Amino acid sequence: MKYVNHVSELIGNTPLIKLNSVTEGINATVLAKVEYFNPGGSIKDRIAEKLIDAAEASGQLKPGGTIVEPTSGNTGIGLALIAQQRGYRCIFTVPDKVAEDKRNTLKAYGAEVIVCPTAVAHVDPRSYYSVSDRLAKEIPGGFKPDQYSNLNGPASHYASTGPEIWKDTEGKVTHVVIGVGTGGTISGTGKYLKELSGGKVQVIGCDPKGSIYSKTETNSMPYLVEGVGRGDDFLPAAYNSDVVDEVIPVPDAESFEMTRRLAREEGLMVGPSCGMAAAAALKVAKDLPADAVVVVILPDGGRGYLAKVYNDAWMQAHGFLGDDASVKLADKVAFNPAGVPFVLENDSLVSARQSIEDSGLTSLPVMVKTPPVRIGHVIGTISLTQIDAAAPTATVKDILGAKPALVGSGQGVEVAKKLLASNDFALLLHDGEVEALLKPGQLS
Ligand code: PMP
Repeated sequence: MKYVNHVSELIGNTPLIKLNSVTEGINATVLAKVEYFNPGGSIKDRIAEKLIDAAEASGQLKPGGTIVEPTSGNTGIGLALIAQQRGYRCIFTVPDKVAEDKRNTLKAYGAEVIVCPTAVAHVDPRSYYSVSDRLAKEIPGGFKPDQYSNLNGPASHYASTGPEIWKDTEGKVTHVVIGVGTGGTISGTGKYLKELSGGKVQVIGCDPKGSIYSKTETNSMPYLVEGVGRGDDFLPAAYNSDVVDEVIPVPDAESFEMTRRLAREEGLMVGPSCGMAAAAALKVAKDLPADAVVVVILPDGGRGYLAKVYNDAWMQAHGFLGDDASVKLADKVAFNPAGVPFVLENDSLVSARQSIEDSGLTSLPVMVKTPPVRIGHVIGTISLTQIDAAAPTATVKDILGAKPALVGSGQGVEVAKKLLASNDFALLLHDGEVEALLKPGQLS
């Protein structure tokens, strides 16, 4: 009989699949290492097993213990798979930008999920990092694997991902392109391939434009692609820049477009960090000769992102995709990103009231910095009614209202008019950037 004793035995040995359509005009061979073939659906299964094995060996994790980790989902699934088999409780903290489907997936594996705000600093007590630190200390038998600092993460890629690429390409790989989140994948895989090739294999990282690894901006900018990049000036220990030759920044718009193309043209329904990595890989491959072999790692599948990159309405409202309107908002409205009225999260209620009254509206968007901003800088709204009802000591953050209505530059005037009939204002977005604030009556 052919069977395995547990699903975890199927981790690794993922296939290389040649890209044929998105590579049009490219002479080099571009091979995707498709990690959704892992049993938990992502590359993170590989590190999960190694992190738990090591913690058991060192005595950090004891029978009946609790695993607490800040994770955008995939590491959680991997950890939950192994924890289930070995009888550990799992608690995961996730930033609120992570899709609901992904959170429900974690719960399906029996894990507990705590949602934390995305738009706060790493050190803020509300951040998903800080909350996980606190819980790991408070809960008896608590253990935090900490994929950002745990060197068993890169070690698992040195032991499996790297050797698989070398073996399956028969040592012919010339370039690897890998998205950087914790940096574990690129550091372990890169180190192995550098060693085996005598330094010849080019190890190329990529991250969302605005993240710190490629550092194209003076200040980091929030981006919408999940699972990769980093927003603050703190390089994780899992990231070893010595084995990385270059890091290519990829704007969200390019990542999302390539993600959708991989599904439609290659039959690979993958997550947005895969589109990001593939977009970078094509830039690398563009000028390479026919004997070059570029391997790009696609970390996860697309089912956790059905409400975002694979949802036309979401793509349209964020200004990444047009709809069928013949006249677009971009043709009708002047973009003035620096002139968008706002309230800052740290403003006093007195100054918030003044800003709202000056704008002639009854509410305004609340931002973490002054415009121009990306949508990730906008954390909610605040209205005169809320201020009137607030305690005298309250701050803007205490009484934050829902996220504002959004409309995309490629949508038509009718969509915006409909939104403005039931909202005080709407933000006009192009490629995830806030370009203008639309007021009722402005478009008639
Ligand atoms: N893509 C996705 C979807 C991920 O969840 C992660 C892990 N955060 C990565 C890419 C990046 O991998 P690494 O953490 O090894 O850099």
